[in-house]
Amino acid sequence: MKEIILGVKVDTDNYDELIKKLFKRIDNKEKSLVVAINPEKLMKAKEDQSLKDLLNRAEFQIPDGIGVILASKLNKGNIKSRVTGIDMMDRIVREAAKTGKSIYLYGAKPGVADQAAQALRSKYPSLKIAGIQDGYEQDNEKVIQKINEVKPEILFVAMGSPRQENWIEANRDRLYPSLYQGVGGSFDVLAG
Ligand code: UDP
Repeated sequence: MKEIILGVKVDTDNYDELIKKLFKRIDNKEKSLVVAINPEKLMKAKEDQSLKDLLNRAEFQIPDGIGVILASKLNKGNIKSRVTGIDMMDRIVREAAKTGKSIYLYGAKPGVADQAAQALRSKYPSLKIAGIQDGYEQDNEKVIQKINEVKPEILFVAMGSPRQENWIEANRDRLYPSLYQGVGGSFDVLAG
């Protein structure tokens, strides 16, 4: 289910429900983009129709931020708890490790994705990390080729919002992965 908050769609599902839907879509080879909705983005989207459209075109909009929950309550909506971008990423990675789906990390400064990958590998030893790419490669064709070569089911893009969502939208038709999540500064957090 979705609710509309300040003109932006937001999913009412919790982590488990979202994971179930997302992985079913991977199995069906259907593409999904997950965007995190926080009050800051809602405020920006209010002034910026193209950002609003971009967020609304994503298949999933997770309620990241307590302000989104409060807005839902005021609307007599159904969103009960936060689904944060970084925790959603963790749940997706955990499920990927469990089901043998591979992930790819694209974004952040050189070296950071590598450290983030190491942190994920030590948390989930069975995790398949198909590859990593820093977020400063200028040759976009090279990036697409690199990702497609290793056929990851899941692509995390950490280049800040809305840059990462714009990049995913512009390139997803030519990319192998089914599941796409823009994760902002999450690689930096994982790298510690
Ligand atoms: N970044 C990138 N390529 C760029 C610009 C930014 O990979 O061309 C990375 C940057 O290194 C950082 C992340 O994008 O890791 C931005 O994180 P930020 O916390 O600003 O994103 P937010 O969570 O606020 O969307």
